Amino acid sequence: MSKGLFLVFAIALLWSCQPKETKWAGQAPAKRVSTLTRPIQYQLKKTFDLGNGIFLSNEFDGARLNGVALTGENEVTVLITPENTPVNASPWYAFKIWSTTSKDIDLKITYNEGVGHRYYPKLSADGKNWTKVDSTVYIADTASIANGEQPKFCSFSLSLSPDTTWVSAQELIVSKDINKWAAGLAEKEYVSMAELAKSKEGRTINYLQIGNPDSKKMLMVLSRQHPPEITGWLAMQAFIERICTDDELSEKFRNEYNIFLVPCVNPDGVDNGHWRHGAGGIDLNRDWDDFNQPETRAVNKFMKSKVADGSKFYFAVDFHSTQHDIYYTVAPELKGNMPGLVPKVLTAMGEEIPGYDPNIDPSSVDELRISSTLSIFHEFKAETVTFEVGDDTPRDFIEKKGKLTAENLMKIMLED
Ligand SMILES: [Zn+2]
Repeated sequence: MSKGLFLVFAIALLWSCQPKETKWAGQAPAKRVSTLTRPIQYQLKKTFDLGNGIFLSNEFDGARLNGVALTGENEVTVLITPENTPVNASPWYAFKIWSTTSKDIDLKITYNEGVGHRYYPKLSADGKNWTKVDSTVYIADTASIANGEQPKFCSFSLSLSPDTTWVSAQELIVSKDINKWAAGLAEKEYVSMAELAKSKEGRTINYLQIGNPDSKKMLMVLSRQHPPEITGWLAMQAFIERICTDDELSEKFRNEYNIFLVPCVNPDGVDNGHWRHGAGGIDLNRDWDDFNQPETRAVNKFMKSKVADGSKFYFAVDFHSTQHDIYYTVAPELKGNMPGLVPKVLTAMGEEIPGYDPNIDPSSVDELRISSTLSIFHEFKAETVTFEVGDDTPRDFIEKKGKLTAENLMKIMLED
């Protein structure tokens, strides 16, 4: 048996001896950091000509490609770097590649020193419909994995032709797609769209108002503070579309409640293909106490204006993505405007999905109020949850969870 093969067997054996899957403990509580604006590095937007008939481009919204080289006869290596550092290691990439004549290459995706590969690559012929790279042609830095380290690169074979192939970390959903989806919903008589504010780079941050605008009972829904977090976006989309369904439950809910949605809190980060930050070089989800960035400040100001007449936020949710599905809630001892609502909804949702036990992770009582949901809980007493979806959670399951969460939320909020 070769050394390599032995290693594969040894790893497989160790893996099979692991205890049955335990719940993921989630991220450590966020630490306070300065959220004052810092510079970001813009990508050089261009078509890269490798000289042998192979071309790559980052000239589109959401693209991230910082460098590329021909590193073998048929090997193309790309370099992906973040907008600035320090930054959470969620290395987003997206670019187009084509060749003048058909040829097979190995495409290697690398990052700056110390960054681990995270997103399994997806391919598209039109930038809209995506498939995962075939696992039989995919390698993720086996040497690092065998050392118990994060893979530093991934590599896969790819057939090039004059037709463009899009390569991306996740499905590409940028601000114009989001605004188009929102405008489509706003055609319904009970949905309206308006401008919340401008982002740092002057992009429009829209919000939707859904349901009864005269109701004093409100909800707030947020998404895309973190640009690459597409699975969170997909859950949000299913959640909102369920609330906008024309059935008895939703109609009753929309008559009773006034729902606000900011579908893209960070359009600059999304369109610039950022790993994490806004155009101010800051993780927006650490700025909910200091409000140094225009995007977070705008959402907070909007919510303050809505409670000025005595209206109340009863529920708020912020959709994100991480390694595994998890729900960050406030400490159960802390009572908001509808105590117990969030755990009740998540448990009821879980009960409708055979074999699914939602991983609910409450914060400690004194956790810092620097993230959206803890800030919104403390300032507005809305019952809040950070709804985290795994990067690789099957897309149909994401849709199901988003929909069932909305359904159970509506039922439970109508009972009270
Ligand atoms: Zn996030």
